[in-house]
Amino acid sequence: MEIMTSACCRKIVSVSLSKRFLGVSVAVVKRGISDDNAQSKNYDIIIAGGGMVGTAMACSLGRNRKFSNHKILLLEESPEKTWDLKPEYSNRVSALGAHSKMFLDSIGAWSHIEKARLKEVKKMQVWDAFSEAVITFNDENLQDDIAYVVENDVVMSAINKQLKETNGPVETIYKAKIKSFKLPSKSEYAKSGSVKVQLEDGTDFSCNLLIGADGANSRVRNAMGVNYLSWSYGQMGVVATLKLSEPTNNIVAWQRFLPTGPIALLPLNDELSSLVWSTSTEDAKLLLDLDSESFVDYINEALWKQYPIEKPVEAITKNLSSLLYNIFGPTAAAGARQLPPSVKCIVEGSKAAFPLGFGHSTKYIGPGVALIGDSAHRVHPLAGMGVNLGFGDVNCLQKKLSEAVHSGSEIGNPEYLLEYETERQRHNFPRMVFIDALHKLYGTSFMPVVLLRSVGLQLTDALKPLKKVIMKRAGA
Ligand SMILES: Cc1cc2nc3c(=O)[nH]c(=O)nc-3n(C[C@H](O)[C@H](O)[C@H](O)COP(=O)(O)OP(=O)(O)OC[C@H]3O[C@@H](n4cnc5c(N)ncnc54)[C@H](O)[C@@H]3O)c2cc1C
Repeated sequence: MEIMTSACCRKIVSVSLSKRFLGVSVAVVKRGISDDNAQSKNYDIIIAGGGMVGTAMACSLGRNRKFSNHKILLLEESPEKTWDLKPEYSNRVSALGAHSKMFLDSIGAWSHIEKARLKEVKKMQVWDAFSEAVITFNDENLQDDIAYVVENDVVMSAINKQLKETNGPVETIYKAKIKSFKLPSKSEYAKSGSVKVQLEDGTDFSCNLLIGADGANSRVRNAMGVNYLSWSYGQMGVVATLKLSEPTNNIVAWQRFLPTGPIALLPLNDELSSLVWSTSTEDAKLLLDLDSESFVDYINEALWKQYPIEKPVEAITKNLSSLLYNIFGPTAAAGARQLPPSVKCIVEGSKAAFPLGFGHSTKYIGPGVALIGDSAHRVHPLAGMGVNLGFGDVNCLQKKLSEAVHSGSEIGNPEYLLEYETERQRHNFPRMVFIDALHKLYGTSFMPVVLLRSVGLQLTDALKPLKKVIMKRAGA
C-alpha cells in the first residue's frame, strides 16, 4: 500500500458538547491540534472510492482553506495510475455540461483538461427512427458550446494533478480495498461521532464523516441499509472510437433512437467520434463478437437505415411540420435536420461494453455518512448525465460541509447533511425520472406512442424558449 501524500500528523483533541437537532441530542466534537506528530488512523473525513467523483470531492475539500486543519483520506482500491496523455483516444468519454465545466474550473482542473484534450459540442441532434421528428439544440450561429466531450482519463488526470498540486490536507491510499464499515446508529453517532472503516488487509481507520463515492455497487450504501430503487435495463452500452468516412467540422453530437435503444456519436476531433450504442445485452454481445468491418456496417445501418413509417405518423408529422414552418419560419420542425456522418472504420481494440441500469438511493445520508455520484444514483447514458450529476453532488456537499465548519459545527452535523440530501435529491430525482421515461417512450414502435412522441419532439423543437430551459436544466 502506497501513501501518496502525507498531511501533517496531528492528534485530535476531542471535546464533546451537545446540540439539539431534530429532537436528538447530537455530540459536537470540537477539535484542537496538538504538537504530537504520531501517525494517526483517525480522520475527519474518509472518502471511499477514487473515481471521477470521489477524487473531485477530495480535491474540492483539499483546496478549501476551511479544511486546512482537517485530516482527509481518499481510499481507492485500484493501483495508482500515471494518467499520461496517450496519442490514441480512450473509448470512455463523458459529455460534460456547463455546470460541470464551472465546477471543474472552480477546483482548478478545467485548465488541465483544456491543455490536454477536449472537443466542444456546438449542436446536438436527436431523431426518431420511426418518424421524421427531430430536435436540435444549438445557439443560432453555432457560437456557444453546449457541452464538452472529454475522455474520462483526461478528467481523472486533471483532477489528480490538481489534487497533488494542492498542498492540502488530503492523503490518498491506492490499492486500498475497503472490506467493511461499521456505521453507527443515530444515538451511537451522537455519543462517539465516529465511523469505522476496515480494509481487506485488516487496516482500520475511523472518521467523523464517511463519504461514499464507491460507484453503482456501493458498499457504503449497502452498509447504510437504505432502500435502493433499482432495475437493470437489460441493455449494455457498446462503446468504441470511430474513424469518420471523411474529415468534417465535427461539432455535432448525434443521437438516433432505435427500437432497441439509442445510438450516439460524440465528436472527438475532425476525424474521430466516440460511439455509445445502448442495445439489448444479447445484441451487445453479438456486436462485441463481430469483426471490425461488420461492426462498422451495423453502425452505419443503425445511423442511416430507413425504418417503415406508419401512414398516420407520416401524415400528422408532415402537416404539423408545415404548420410550424408557417408559424415559426424555416428553422422550425424538420427544417433544421442534418444528415449524420458515416463511419469508415473503428480504432482497433477500442470496442467494449458496459451494463446499464437505473438506481436511486432513497437516502443520501445517515449518521456520519453521505453518498455522492453513482453510489447514490445511476442513470442510463442516453442523456449523458451520470457524472454531471455526480459533480453537482460534490459541489453541493463541499459547500454544506464548508458552512458547517464555518459555523463551528461538527463536520458530520446532520443539519448540514440533510440540507445536502434535500437539495440534491430535489435536483437529481426529477432528471432521473425524465431520463427513464425517455428510455421507455422510445423503447417501442407501437404507432400511437410513436405519434405522440414525434409530435412532442416537433413541438419542443419549434419552441425555442422551451429548448433553452431544457438546455439550462440539463446541467447538474
Ligand atoms: C457507456 C457509458 C457512457 C457514459 N457517458 C456519460 C456521459 O456522456 N456523461 C456523463 O455525465 N456520464 C456518463 N456516464 C456515466 C459516468 O460514467 C458515471 O456516472 C461516472 O463514471 C460515475 O463516477 P463515480 O466516481 O461516481 O463512480 P465510479 O466511476 O464507479 O468510481 C467508483 C470508484 O470507487 C472505487 N471503489 C469501489 N469499491 C471500492 C472499495 N470497496 N474500496 C475502495 N475503492 C472502491 C472504484 O475502484 C472506483 O474507482 C456514462 C456511463 C456509461 C456506462
